[in-house]
Order: sequence, then structure tokens, then C-alpha cells
Amino acid sequence: MTNKPAKPIMLFDCKTSQNVFGRENLMKAFEKILDHGGYCQGPETKELDEKLAAYCGAKYCSTCGSGTDALTLALMAWNVKPGDAVFVSSFTFVASAEAPVLLGATPIFVDSDPNTYNMDPEDLQRAIDEVKKEGKLNLKAVVAVDIFGSPCDYDKIIKIAHDNGMKVLADSCQSFGSVYKGKHAGNIADMTATSFYPTKPLGGYGDGGATFSNTNEENELIKSCRVHGMSPEDHYDNVRLGMTGRMNTFQAAVLLQKLTVFDQELKDRFRVASRYDNELDSYFGKQKILDGCKSAYALYTITCPDRDELMAYLKDNGIPCGAYYPRPVNTQTAYAKWNTRSVPVCEKLSKTALSIPMTPYLDNEDLDYIIKTMNEFAAQKKAKAA
Ligand SMILES: *Cc1c(COP(=O)(O)O)cnc(C)c1O
Repeated sequence: MTNKPAKPIMLFDCKTSQNVFGRENLMKAFEKILDHGGYCQGPETKELDEKLAAYCGAKYCSTCGSGTDALTLALMAWNVKPGDAVFVSSFTFVASAEAPVLLGATPIFVDSDPNTYNMDPEDLQRAIDEVKKEGKLNLKAVVAVDIFGSPCDYDKIIKIAHDNGMKVLADSCQSFGSVYKGKHAGNIADMTATSFYPTKPLGGYGDGGATFSNTNEENELIKSCRVHGMSPEDHYDNVRLGMTGRMNTFQAAVLLQKLTVFDQELKDRFRVASRYDNELDSYFGKQKILDGCKSAYALYTITCPDRDELMAYLKDNGIPCGAYYPRPVNTQTAYAKWNTRSVPVCEKLSKTALSIPMTPYLDNEDLDYIIKTMNEFAAQKKAKAA
């Protein structure tokens, strides 16, 4: 027997916040841009850079075209190149590894911690020792991903990286708004990349991203690479390789509006997460958030031994859900030649992890229904096993 929610439930909700910040305010901002004509990197992008840096406490923020651009630009500023080893989580969205590969570096895939689903510092150390022993690659950087919005074990990861002469780039594409021991995402690692893809915690209405850094030198390199490696003095002299990585001004206007409701949205994400934390059956594994940290809850992800069956059951009952991520990056076709290490925890997570509805606009009626439906599944499974 299947049931139906009283009203449709969404996995993500990119639209409802318009009712909160006021769509008419956005239309006014768009009209202003239509009039001033600075459609790429106009004054609104500059205002956004300043507001985002102030929000997280980073010295510099440079907005760009996407989260993938942000990762790539940060690595370009560090001159990542062929012969470099870049250590990266394997249980992530492909872009975390794609960025170093686009620059010709070698991705070294690192396993996850089974409780936090984030990079396991012990396996990072093992991977570094292996690369050192082989002696072919230059140890360059670590890309630490805050999966589903939850901060990595930065104290350990940064220490291991720095002890080995490497920098840490936080892939905070899912975690803008998260907090690690009193520090906001953007101001934790050596540099940070984030994404404003519509489903991310601070989502725009199209592609967008930003890098955060604490040195003027890095930020100037990023700003140059963002426009084809342009010289700040002579715009017709490109002094290094770069890309088309600018943010369009309309996107900045959207994000400035979204920023006005962002703190309330984060509070509502916590409200949803705490109901799931407290009320979902212990049959489901829950992502551990490190002590003293706050997730931005891009996704709420549980683990379940019969994940595919649960997914079908939830869909039959009108609850959207998604397997993020069904294949660790190292097992994907384009990455086959770098599939050199075994990452058993990532493999297991790819078969057991399931993301359930997480939006700031789920109300108690929606949550009652989701929790009841999931707990019924758990009860059936436990009764069978008994
Ligand atoms: C979304 C995402 C990216 C890429 O961001 P885009 O804006 O889609 O380019 C990179 N890493 C992670 C972990 C992501 O979730």
C-alpha cells in the first residue's frame, strides 16, 4: 500500500524564498542592471564580493562563473601543473577532482571516514606516504570537501598537509554558511571555493561561484585568471593562462537578495535537520557532524543497508530522494587511469547513502509525513530480521 503527502514535497526548493525577500525587489535590481549595462562583473558583483567576505570573515572574495571555476582558479593561483599530486576525497561531486585534472595534475583519491563521510585524515596520511615513497610526483595540495555541507576535520587535515609542504583548498561548494570551531566556511583553510548553483545552501538562479583567500597576492592571481590571465596594468597583455570565469551581474543581484534571507534559511535547515536527527529510526545511519561544528545542510543524508529499496519505497509514497553519490569519482570512466588506491568506505557509502528532502520551507506536516513513512520502512525491516 502506498500513501501520498498532503501536498507535494520537494527534495530541493529553489523558488519559495522569492516570497520572503520579495520578487519585486529582484525585478527592481534587474531593471537597474538593464539600465547601467554592466552585464558582466558589474558593480553588483563587487558589492557581492564585499558582502560574502564580510559574512565569513575572509580577507578577500572573488566571485566567478561556477564552483568548478572557483576550484580551478584557486589551484591556478597556486600554479598547480603536470607532475603535481593533488589529494582529493573520492566520495564527492566530480568537480572536486576535475579541477586539478584540468590543470594536468594527478588526483590521488582519499577514502572517507564512515561516520562523517568526509576525507579520513589517516587515509590522507597513508596516501601521502605512498606518493612520497614512489617519488614521482610533487606533493602540492589537498582538496578537502565538506560533503553535504558538513565541515571536514580541518585541524588534522591542515596539519598533515602543512607538515608535508602542501596547501589546503576547502571545497565548500556545499557548505557556505557552515561553521568549524567558530570559523565560517571561507575562512578555515588556505583558500576556499564555493558554488551558488541553485540547489546549494546559498543558491542563485543559474551558475555562480566564489573563491575566498587571505592574501592579496592570491586574490590578484585569481582575478587575473578569471579573465584570461589579464595584466591589471595593460588589459591587452595576458601575462598568464586563464579562462572566462567572470560572474554575470544578474546572478550577483539574485545572490544579494538571497543573502538577505540566508541566515533565516540556515536556521530553518537546522530545524529540519534536528527533527530528522531526533525522530528518524536508528535503523538509519546519520551523518556525524564534528563537535563544535555546524553543517549548512545542503543535503540531509542517511545511510541504509537496503538503500535502493528504500529509495523506491519513498518515491512510491511521494517522497523525492536521491543517491548522492552512486559512484565514487575514482570509479568513473574519465578517471579510470587515476583509480590507483582502494577507497572501501567511499565504495560502501556509494551503495548506502541516500539524501532525503532538505529545504528551509518544509513544515511540520511535511516532516511528520516523511519521518512516519521512513520509520514504517525501518519497522518492516526490523520485524523481518527479528
Ligand atoms: C556543486 C559542487 C561543485 C561544483 O560547483 P558548480 O557550481 O556546479 O560548478 C564542486 N564540488 C562540490 C562538492 C559540489 O557539490
